[in-house]
Amino acid sequence: MIGYQTMKNDILTFLDEKYHNAKCMLNYSNPFELLIAIMLSAQTKDESVNKVTNILFNKYKTIEDYRNANIKDIESILKPIGNQTKKSKYIVSIANKLKEYNDTIPNNEEFLLSLDGIGIKTTNLFRAMIFNEKKMPVDTHVKRISLRLGLASENNTLEEIESILESFFPSEFILDTHHKLIYFGRNLCKSINPNCNECKLKKYCNYYKTNKKED
Ligand code: SF4
Repeated sequence: MIGYQTMKNDILTFLDEKYHNAKCMLNYSNPFELLIAIMLSAQTKDESVNKVTNILFNKYKTIEDYRNANIKDIESILKPIGNQTKKSKYIVSIANKLKEYNDTIPNNEEFLLSLDGIGIKTTNLFRAMIFNEKKMPVDTHVKRISLRLGLASENNTLEEIESILESFFPSEFILDTHHKLIYFGRNLCKSINPNCNECKLKKYCNYYKTNKKED
């Protein structure tokens, strides 16, 4: 029987071997831009988000600029990533709400979740990156890997998976581990046809035992 601690060490060692330099791929130069970039990245590739934010962030420099923006202009910049009408409204609405905090973004989960377009994954990633909160944002990659490795089950909510992973991984490495899991999910433990041959976590993997072992 393989121990829990051994499994944890094996996962951390493997992720570190493969994705030592993993980091957030979104471009930003201040907390507001990070919040907007994470919001825009839902169901959109980071590279595509970076292309539009390169234009957006160069044109609009301050939160006040977004409040005064012509929403149609923001829409046209966001068009390549889709849902531009909704997303441009979110940006202006967030800029308006931040007036309450003198255009700073508070480390306040309740407030962040009250912002248009901002859910728990965005809130966690933002707080982890800006405020060094020990949070594990659970996106589609992190969820899939957690289920395959048996760390969580289909019955768990995203909040439960988040809490399981925050207890499982050492808190000092939690954000780093999040970035590595994202790289792992994008490059190897993909949703369809994961490249299990290159994976050193097979012995822990329920997906591998069920779908790949007899290949
Ligand atoms: S063995 Fe395959 S499915 Fe399992 S964790 Fe590794 S890459 Fe993912």
